Amino acid sequence: MYITNAQRPLKEWHLTDFEIGRPLGKGKFGRVYMVRTKAEPRFTLALKTLYKDEIIQGKVEKQIRREIEIQQNLRHPHVLRLYGYFHDANRIFLMLEFAGKGELYKHLSKAGRFTERRSARYIYQMADALSYLHSKHVIHRDIKPENLLLGLNGDLKIADFGWSVHAPSNRRATLCGTMDYLPPEMVEQKQHNEKVDHWALGVLTFEFLCGTPPFEEKSSNATYRRIAEVKYTFPSHVSSEARDLISKLLQYEPDKRLPLSEVLVHPWIEKYRQRASQGAAK
Ligand code: ATP
Ligand code: MG
Repeated sequence: MYITNAQRPLKEWHLTDFEIGRPLGKGKFGRVYMVRTKAEPRFTLALKTLYKDEIIQGKVEKQIRREIEIQQNLRHPHVLRLYGYFHDANRIFLMLEFAGKGELYKHLSKAGRFTERRSARYIYQMADALSYLHSKHVIHRDIKPENLLLGLNGDLKIADFGWSVHAPSNRRATLCGTMDYLPPEMVEQKQHNEKVDHWALGVLTFEFLCGTPPFEEKSSNATYRRIAEVKYTFPSHVSSEARDLISKLLQYEPDKRLPLSEVLVHPWIEKYRQRASQGAAK
């Protein structure tokens, strides 16, 4: 693969270097396309376009620049890779790893909820990716199914990280508010640290297993109250091991939330780990 070396793209890229394929989705500042390099060896990737005038209108120029720099230096099997970027007069193009199975959110909507085995596999991959990010002092802050993609082999890929700060997704705002994954310290507007991601991992585990997030309410005020009270109940089908993990992540006190190293070896994860890793081409 000649697309990048260890740190930097080997060449300057231009739109004409790519054969543009089908649209993969629509982002806030432009569309995302499946593309292939024209030169051999032909390489498939996702090209995300961002319109400069919209970035300037949204006053998110500096933040996008910083996030691109952060994402470009991350290398992890469960963190969506940013290979590089280039621009023309009107647009910025991000060269992203192609996540062939698309949004996790769509798979969850279709399935209703995931099995414990499938959920445990995703949560292991998430904990693995988050401990990598935290070791690099990157806090995602916007973990939710909408920001997770699936690779062709079904592996989870964290995307859109850090973007929450300058581009909060409003996809769910219209349905039930944007608060579902916020921890108490953020809804109460206190200082927060990387432990916000541990909380979100607990919310995510619950949503995978149940199909809806634990604090969901019609109004964001009601969700706010439930988050601050850490008030949720499990449907009867949730196993005791899963309940144990979720309750250890959904702790009001950030410092009491289970460390990611312990998530990776939690009995619920271990129970499915052998079989889970057989399916993953690692
Ligand atoms: P939003 O706030 O609506 O999520 P966004 O600006 O964050 O918008 P993205 O989420 O990055 O934009 O991209 C929009 C959609 O394009 C995604 O929801 C997904 O369906 C698709 N997409 C984005 N990146 C990729 C990728 N690397 N591989 C496959 N599909 C992708
Ligand atoms: Mg997005």
